[in-house]
Amino acid sequence: MNPTIESFAQLELSPQILEALAGIGYETPSPIQAACIPHLRAGHDLLGEAQTGTGKTAAFALPLLDRLDLSARKPQVLVLTPTRELAIQVAEAFQRYAKNLPGFHVLPIYGGQSMVVQLRQLSRGAHVVVGTPGRVMDHIERESLDLGSLKTLVLDEADEMLRMGFIDDVEWILDHVPAERQTALFSATMPDAIRRVAHRYLREPREVKIKTATTTVTTIRQRFCQIAVAHKLDALTRILEVEEEFDAAIVFVRTKTATVELAEKLEARGYAAAALNGDMTQQLRERVIEQLKGGGLDIVVATDVAARGLDVPRISHVINYDIPYDTEAYVHRIGRTGRAGRTGSAILFVAPREMRMLKVIERATRQPIEPLQLPSREAVADKRVAAFRQQVATVLESEDLDFFREVVAGMEDSHDADIHDIAAALAFLAQRERPLQLPRSAGPDIAAAQSAPRAERPARENRDAILERRRDFADGRLQRYRIEVGRNQQATPKDIVGAIANEAGIESRFIGQINLYEDYSTVELPGDLPHDVLDILRRVRVRQRQLNIRPLDHDEAQRDAARPRPGPGPRFGAKPAPRGEDAPRKPFAKPWDKPAGKPGGDRPHGGKPFHSDRRETQGTGFKPGKKKPHGDR
Ligand code: ADP
Ligand code: MG
Repeated sequence: MNPTIESFAQLELSPQILEALAGIGYETPSPIQAACIPHLRAGHDLLGEAQTGTGKTAAFALPLLDRLDLSARKPQVLVLTPTRELAIQVAEAFQRYAKNLPGFHVLPIYGGQSMVVQLRQLSRGAHVVVGTPGRVMDHIERESLDLGSLKTLVLDEADEMLRMGFIDDVEWILDHVPAERQTALFSATMPDAIRRVAHRYLREPREVKIKTATTTVTTIRQRFCQIAVAHKLDALTRILEVEEEFDAAIVFVRTKTATVELAEKLEARGYAAAALNGDMTQQLRERVIEQLKGGGLDIVVATDVAARGLDVPRISHVINYDIPYDTEAYVHRIGRTGRAGRTGSAILFVAPREMRMLKVIERATRQPIEPLQLPSREAVADKRVAAFRQQVATVLESEDLDFFREVVAGMEDSHDADIHDIAAALAFLAQRERPLQLPRSAGPDIAAAQSAPRAERPARENRDAILERRRDFADGRLQRYRIEVGRNQQATPKDIVGAIANEAGIESRFIGQINLYEDYSTVELPGDLPHDVLDILRRVRVRQRQLNIRPLDHDEAQRDAARPRPGPGPRFGAKPAPRGEDAPRKPFAKPWDKPAGKPGGDRPHGGKPFHSDRRETQGTGFKPGKKKPHGDR
């Protein structure tokens, strides 16, 4: 390995490629790129292991692009990827890196796409084909994919292909492509089955393994917030107000006009905000970035293109105000925070109909994105009041108030007013510009609307009461309750979970195992349900029967415990709490455990990722544009 490689030029890539990389904003090769590019350019087989997000695509795309014979429009490189999304992503990456290669053509092929169209595209020819195993097999069998000029086969995300059951297809393809070829296999992990494939099909492969100790993504806490479009602005300002460790934010929107509109709205609300978009002159853009760096601005509202490569260490938050079009854009966006070894937060607004995209992002980045509970109106008010008190305390300590004391004393005499009332009136005056309370809008608080299920919401009074009381839930061990509906009424666990979730606002993940009996059932729920929630639950009906929920009596509990526990089949909601004295008392993480508005407040390092153990093994392993010690072989 070559720990001294700091630029792509050192990797002897062609000027056209270097120029394209400069345009994209890549400054330094990532460790896997620095290690793989020389081997692949030299024509060796390669086994590359590095975690997701470490830049594996460019590690093979760049050297292979440089080896193409552009005059022959025949597939010279075939890349296999596990999913259609990845096929598209990889093809797009090739396209971007090949921006300055005249006549270059890359073709993604995947299932679900019209065969007719694909056949036509294939017959027109492409230098690089990126496809999912099934569709590639199809075309090899039909002989519509001409492999006569194939020089290199890349297996991308091999472990994922294994996990998805494509390994036989992959081997079939390996057996059907020309034997005289270069083969590269990339994987985030190296399970035995993959190692066997590598052993069988790769010839004297060079092995590159990048260990990633600290990574870009591990230092970024990712959360999402499901929110209707109409509430986004309100949600954003609430989040900005209560976020801990907020320094500066970049807010991503989809259009240039939206950058301007949102920046203006934020300015009107007292934030130092500005737009950043491609319509602005280079000079203007640079000024915005300088101001953000220097603290003259705290929020920049940008499009993806305008913010590409932006490196401002004080950006503590990336807000995906509009969801990105693809996962690549998402990774780019969140990479604007957590820079230079700092921690960062990424928050993604997801409209209800965009929830699918959230899953795609989670899958593609293999990172869990935690739900974010919007701070309630009260939480925002608490925060403002706390700041106000602090201001008052500072003034009391540091200002000479003699003159003002006399003014107040004068009021006390002449109005015969109580000193508390006078102080309250002054506080009222002081906050008129920036009210301590959020205005009460019509309808429920957006924070409440967000957490209540869409269908069959309980009456508003009930819901508000529940939301209030949620914070009172304490210990959180599961307890078994009896409900008066069972098999004879054709009740199913799904009905029961649905009714409890919708009526009492208890999220299904806090609803444990359900046992159905003839005329009643038992269900595990948090042991600390407040009375008003139980009241609601007593009256809830499933299959026309009122649940009349109550804790199990002794006999019922014994009978219930004697039932065989279900195997690993489908479960509903939460896992049962550990049983027995020795079982660790691991409190259930409930959204209401933390006071709203202090996300990360109870975390040891405020805002460190919840899944740190999982994240330790993932991430990008490099900071674009930053020198990092390279991993070893
Ligand atoms: P992997 O395949 O290892 O999961 P990708 O190839 O998808 O990773 O790259 C992850 C992200 O990093 C992409 O957004 C890509 O554009 C970006 N990236 C790759 N190489 C570099 C680099 N040298 N500098 C900056 N960003 C890079
Ligand atoms: Mg990849």
